[in-house]
Amino acid sequence: MTAQAVQERIYNFSPGPATMPLSVLQQVQDELLCLPGSGCSIMEMSHRDKTFLDILHAAENGIRSLLNVSDDYAVLFLQGGARLQFSMIAANLLRGQSGKAQYLVTGSWGKSAVAEAVKEGPTEVIWDGKADNYNNIPSDADYSVDPSAAYLYYCSNETIQGVQFQTEPTAPQGVPLICDSSSDFLCRPVDIEKYGILYACAQKNAGPAGVTVTVIRKDLLERSQAELPGYLNYKNHADNDSEWNTPPTFAIYVLGKVLNWLRDDIGGLQAMQDVNREKAALLYDLIDQYPEFYIGHAAPGCRSLMNVTYKLPSDELQSAFLTQAAKHNLGSLKGHRSVGGIRASIYNAMPREGVAALADFMKDFVAQNG
Ligand SMILES: *Cc1c(COP(=O)(O)O)cnc(C)c1O
Repeated sequence: MTAQAVQERIYNFSPGPATMPLSVLQQVQDELLCLPGSGCSIMEMSHRDKTFLDILHAAENGIRSLLNVSDDYAVLFLQGGARLQFSMIAANLLRGQSGKAQYLVTGSWGKSAVAEAVKEGPTEVIWDGKADNYNNIPSDADYSVDPSAAYLYYCSNETIQGVQFQTEPTAPQGVPLICDSSSDFLCRPVDIEKYGILYACAQKNAGPAGVTVTVIRKDLLERSQAELPGYLNYKNHADNDSEWNTPPTFAIYVLGKVLNWLRDDIGGLQAMQDVNREKAALLYDLIDQYPEFYIGHAAPGCRSLMNVTYKLPSDELQSAFLTQAAKHNLGSLKGHRSVGGIRASIYNAMPREGVAALADFMKDFVAQNG
């Protein structure tokens, strides 16, 4: 049964929820009926049980050690996905402030974050890539941040368009930098000290849907107003060790296993970045080699390591590409409806062989149809 299930697994390029390390799924399967030594499944255990608290703290420590997170920061495990962070960030850090929130909009997710922030206070988009159909990323010289802004917000990797910041924007002294890292969390080393908040929903690059990790500098917790709905108040979660209410225990448990995999099987974030660069190059090299057949969306300087977006010369070729790819066990390659074309999501857990199989398929496809 298990061997057959493993055999049936395709190379899954889904943008999220997305492919997971096979070894993690196998460990979860082994432990699902009874977590060794605990007499029940992880799903059946109180979130106050010491066994679960150890799992929670191990996940927190996993994030702290992979990203070098100091005690100046809290690591929170939240629900509501990245979209609830769009609201929580503005509710906690903008509501009642004199400065305005400033946003860099490089794609669909940044735009959706702005739509929530405006409900909480003055919000300004200081750079917007719309004119170029979000194929670009600004550099520091392309905008100016108000030194009295409540915060500077950006999305490090726009999952739908496939554009990624190569380095973080610079925020003036005293302006917290806020980052939606949902689709490139843990794909490379990050200098966390530059951030006020860095957050990510887990279901792209770190685990199953249901948990969102928010790393927040502790001094920012003092901005949260007591009148906020309890769940929306970061301080409640920080003061209660992410146990203000029942956290998503199963998702945190699986996330913990992905963190162990990153540390033990991959060797940390620098090693992960090296692998990710190598994988992405297999596809971008083909886009560069056949620019009139595989028409890349992202400008070369801001290509995403995680989501590779391109079009083919016609809708007919695109459909044929998707149909034939599926026959080669290459799945979920259809681009988002707003951009069209093809999107290959090649997150941390996508093995190199999967990307190589897609690259081989692309070579054959262009040879037959180009
Ligand atoms: C998927 C995604 C979101 C939305 O996440 P939800 O958990 O569905 O709310 C937000 N930002 C980015 C960058 C994403 O990739």
